[in-house]
Amino acid sequence: MAATPQNPAAAQKPATATPRRKVSRHRGEGQWAVGHLTPLNGAEQFKKDDDGLNVRTRIETVYSKRGFDSIDPNDLRGRFRWWGLYTQRRQGIDGGRTGMLEPEELEDKYFMMRVRITGGRLTTEQLRAIGEVSESYARGTADITDRQNIQFHWVRIEDVPAIWERLESVGLSTTEACGDCPRGMLGSPVAGVAEDEIIDGTAALDEIARRYIGDPRFSNLPRKYKTAVSGSPLLDVAHEINDISFVGVVHPEHGPGFDLWVGGGLSTNPKFGVRLGAWVPEADVPDVWEAVTSVFRDYGYRRLRNRARLKFLIADWGAEKFRQVVEDEYLGRKLIDGPAVEMPAQRWRDHIGVHRQKDGRFYVGFAPRVGRMDGSLLTKVAALAEDHGSGRVSTTVEQKMIVLDVPRDRVDSLVDGLEALDLRVSPSPFRRGTMACTGIEFCKLAIVETKERGSDLIDELERRLPGFDEPLTININGCPNACARIQTADIGLKGQLVTDDEGKQVGGYQVHLGGALGLEPSFGRKVRGLKVTSDELPDYIERVLQRFQEEREDGERFAA
Ligand code: SF4
Repeated sequence: MAATPQNPAAAQKPATATPRRKVSRHRGEGQWAVGHLTPLNGAEQFKKDDDGLNVRTRIETVYSKRGFDSIDPNDLRGRFRWWGLYTQRRQGIDGGRTGMLEPEELEDKYFMMRVRITGGRLTTEQLRAIGEVSESYARGTADITDRQNIQFHWVRIEDVPAIWERLESVGLSTTEACGDCPRGMLGSPVAGVAEDEIIDGTAALDEIARRYIGDPRFSNLPRKYKTAVSGSPLLDVAHEINDISFVGVVHPEHGPGFDLWVGGGLSTNPKFGVRLGAWVPEADVPDVWEAVTSVFRDYGYRRLRNRARLKFLIADWGAEKFRQVVEDEYLGRKLIDGPAVEMPAQRWRDHIGVHRQKDGRFYVGFAPRVGRMDGSLLTKVAALAEDHGSGRVSTTVEQKMIVLDVPRDRVDSLVDGLEALDLRVSPSPFRRGTMACTGIEFCKLAIVETKERGSDLIDELERRLPGFDEPLTININGCPNACARIQTADIGLKGQLVTDDEGKQVGGYQVHLGGALGLEPSFGRKVRGLKVTSDELPDYIERVLQRFQEEREDGERFAA
């Protein structure tokens, strides 16, 4: 019997597994595996009442026909996420009122819809379909997220079935793109083509998605669950901050495979993932994913939403105990000990620019502004790629894109074509390194604007500091959440209200400095009292960078 919210104790395990459950009389952390099956908060209750996956039928047969006002609130603000749908912010509500209004006052009768793009891989046919949906149903919106997805806005409930039909006609979906389930899965955007690849993670990632997306055994996890697989030596999927990551490594006896990391995550209490010290052969990746995810489902904390991510369980148990439970209770065998991955020294772990592939062709990475594209631009990129002999593109975790498989003699022309669309193949460090979340334009939780601010900031910094050539990341969030990974940026900007010179509350940012992934991962330090208004932002960043340029020592890189 499969696990369901109605029957969580029925979680399937391999025949070899040895259940070790003991029922606690205390309320505890709300872990199913120790008998805490009674929902302990509203989210757990609505998940128990009905699986998020089941709302699709109601959308198709009822809500899309009767309109927005017919939608059950538990579906609207809960289960719709399992199909990639969030209500969007009502236009014109300023950030100061974000926390003061009831949901129905804050939300519009339109939706953000997230399309899951496994590993960021898209054919040009799929890209055209996304462009078409954007133009027909989303007022042209189509933002690239830092999880390689594409998000539409202004979607009407009436149009959702038609959007699904169009997306699914080309093999795309919005299934479990949000919600307490295995969300969009990251993969190296140059998997299978990069010359320096350790191992191609494509087949393993696709198999995880094929087996488990839409599987009711995993559609009620304690909270969101993020997966990443990369065999690139650049470790180009921010594996340190995913719940589960498989990263390419060569075992001295067994050859190329994957190093297993678990428990990364940002938001409140950010934590880097930890290694379990296990080497996973390619063929075993889906089974190991299932075992780890099952531990999270059954032992994850469900009492408090802000302790429900896997990172809290790992923090309490430690890697050794977690690995033991994975092996003994779920996998039914021991994992193979393995070496640690070599962390890349590069600060740019993206794929911007022109790069030779292992088959002699080239891939061309380019930078839109803070992930902002639109339907017509995506369609033009698809056409441009096809005109230059390519049928494939990919999205990256830096809100950028790549055209793959370009013959050598078509590269220059493709680069010219992209640049003509303001899609920079040789961007400034500011264009290359700036990301922004959705922000107040559409997000109900936002306090400040982000996308336009980020785009203007790029222009300003390019104008003011034309000679700056250091790798640099500037990540902008519209609220204290972490959708643009502010804690791991050189300069992280957390949207909030700040007091201006005249004592008025205005939009601005708490500044975090010195965050990084890679060789020396660190969370940015919140500099006490260091808050800037939105209007002051270019001046502030210019001052920081100028000071760095003036005072840097030989070879010193920007790490504020
Ligand atoms: Fe919305 Fe905040 Fe996430 Fe930005 S960081 S998208 S404002 S929840």
